[in-house]
Amino acid sequence: MAATSASTLLTQCSKKPDIDPAKKGTKLIPTYCDVCFWKCAAVATVVDGVLTKIEGNDNDPISNGRLCPRGTGGIGAHFDKDRLTHPLMRVGGKGEDKWKKVTWDEALTFIAKKMNQIKEVHGPESMALFSHGVGGSFFKHTLKAYGSHNIAAPSYAQCRGPREIGFVLTVGDEIGAHERTDIKNAKTVVLIGSHLGENMHNTQVQEFAHAIGNGAHIIVVDPRYSVAASKAKDYLPIKPGTDMALILAWMHVLVKEELYDKEYVAKYGFGFEAFEAEMEEYTPEWAFIQTGIEPDVIRKTARQMAMTAPATLVHPGRHVTWNGDDTQRSRAIALLNSLLGSWGRKGGFYTHADKMSVPKYPYSKKYPEGNYRKADRPNENDFPFANGAHDTLSTGLRDATLTGKPYPIKGWITYGTNLLSCLPDTRMTIEAIKKLDLLVVCDIVPSELAGWADVVLPESTYLERHDELSVGAFREQPYVTIRQPIVDAPDDQKPNWWIGRELAIKLGLGDYYPWKTMEEYLQTRVKSAGLDWEKLTTEGIILGEKGPIYMKEEGNDDPEAQVEMLFCEDTDKINFYSNALKEKGFDPVPKYTAPDPLPAGSFHLLFGRAPVHTFAKTQTNPLLHEMMPENEVWLNAAVARRYGLTSNDYVKLKNQDGIVSFKVKVKVTNRIRKDCVFMVHGFGHSARGLKKAFGKGASDATLVTKYKTDPIMGGTGMNVNFVTLETGE
Ligand code: SF4
Repeated sequence: MAATSASTLLTQCSKKPDIDPAKKGTKLIPTYCDVCFWKCAAVATVVDGVLTKIEGNDNDPISNGRLCPRGTGGIGAHFDKDRLTHPLMRVGGKGEDKWKKVTWDEALTFIAKKMNQIKEVHGPESMALFSHGVGGSFFKHTLKAYGSHNIAAPSYAQCRGPREIGFVLTVGDEIGAHERTDIKNAKTVVLIGSHLGENMHNTQVQEFAHAIGNGAHIIVVDPRYSVAASKAKDYLPIKPGTDMALILAWMHVLVKEELYDKEYVAKYGFGFEAFEAEMEEYTPEWAFIQTGIEPDVIRKTARQMAMTAPATLVHPGRHVTWNGDDTQRSRAIALLNSLLGSWGRKGGFYTHADKMSVPKYPYSKKYPEGNYRKADRPNENDFPFANGAHDTLSTGLRDATLTGKPYPIKGWITYGTNLLSCLPDTRMTIEAIKKLDLLVVCDIVPSELAGWADVVLPESTYLERHDELSVGAFREQPYVTIRQPIVDAPDDQKPNWWIGRELAIKLGLGDYYPWKTMEEYLQTRVKSAGLDWEKLTTEGIILGEKGPIYMKEEGNDDPEAQVEMLFCEDTDKINFYSNALKEKGFDPVPKYTAPDPLPAGSFHLLFGRAPVHTFAKTQTNPLLHEMMPENEVWLNAAVARRYGLTSNDYVKLKNQDGIVSFKVKVKVTNRIRKDCVFMVHGFGHSARGLKKAFGKGASDATLVTKYKTDPIMGGTGMNVNFVTLETGE
């Protein structure tokens, strides 16, 4: 389907029949994908100057030479007719969507003047940056040079942050952006609300297929019978919000029946006795009342996990901000894996090999010292475990903008993120925007957020620009990959590095950018690492020496199992009981909190992913749009009958706060519980500039007005909203 669409698209959209003689012929240009954050290395084909296809790079351990459907359709972004073409400045009121086209010089001069005014009146920390993806690097550099460290990423507190903190508090390390889950070697894989296959993290899906092919026992816990559930030997249609009860009951069974890895726990565990005592009450019979999962099923699945341990992987998930107790739920998953002895072991969790050493660019100028607290946590004790360098809370910066506390935030720059689709309660985000002196939105398409901007900066797509190097390791294989321009940007779009650098120059901070072009910057880094620039640009990837990935243990000579594991800093062990949590007033062993009861006549609002779209940013890509132009609302067949609805009827959803969605097509199915509805995230666009996507489907984001904040690290649990059906016109 994508191939046919691509050729149609190229016929319709290609600007040239006049072929520049210099561009004649077929060229293969390596790069890495940016349709999601997985960073698969790819090779694009350009025929007579026209981009025709993109495929996986065979040498890449991240893609294994294969791209997912979004990656393959990624070239549509270059041809997207809804793209921003020129810098824009607002001429009407905020949010009126009235603009004038300006030059880059006018746009950046205006932004720099406003930023310098904000600095003079309120201090540099009153500017904040919200950023997603590798392309934000130079905006971060410019903002730090300007003097602010208020830099947030919704990918932390609205996504995987609680997972990382939960695992750090338990086993001493993060799961990481490329999950260190040994799916392909697992004999039992447990997915809790994780819908691999619809959630298309390339290598994980490949490994999942491999595990299924190898006969792995799949256990899926989900109120919705997902694609992954269709591969499962045990499907547990859990009542939403009760996952912690199930995990506690599983641990109860493992402890009570002495099925846990006693040697592993004795050797590496801390505080097991206290943990064991806490598990006593969580019987399968107790959990049945919470979760709706039969006690026999709980016992049977726990025994299955024990039978294949340590090659049993209870997957930690990725988007884990559900109920506000998400750090503790992630910690419980880490503990369950620890009971099974799977942390550090084959078929459980490995450690990626060491990365290749690629020095940072040797900047000589230091950032100004900030003698202020970040604005996202006004009080010293707020969210005490959100203390890392990359974990500023987006909603915290929004609150500071609304309240002026601990100090005013007067300007936002956003890069690669539509805050109106990823932060909970869009009403609050809009109120915060109204208080700003400056909102700059850098994006590819005119998103809902861009509609509220003072200045909109059109970025070139990943197919038209250089970006930072991708330096990492996947499993045993370290790598460096490069992103480089395949084709020219069609209009007056610019790459992020150029924008970040030019803005710094306008701000009088040009000394922070001693390099002039991105090639110069990248070459400096590559050569200082002793790597071959020519090889990197022609092959797209340089591989390093493979390293071990499993834990070193006495009596195991396997060369792959030579990693010296470091556990929690405070005990050098796996913390079954956490003193660190206890000291800060939190439960040292996870406990269960029941979800809010479902109001009569309402449904739990569930949302998730589709294999052909990423977040809310790909709906206008013509190739991906053709594969999935709108989302549907999944509705249980018995419920649909009650409402007199059939598939392809349209309804609206109304949430507990009276917010009503756009109309959305009904999908009648037995694959969902009667008390839930489900939608794919990212649809229901209300920005009129997104012509292809405007009004298509419904937006879960607008319905998520309620959220529960995780007191441990500030994550926003967003699966706590209820909706009713509006069946009239
Ligand atoms: Fe691109 Fe798909 Fe890889 Fe993401 S997983 S980087 S969209 S190919």
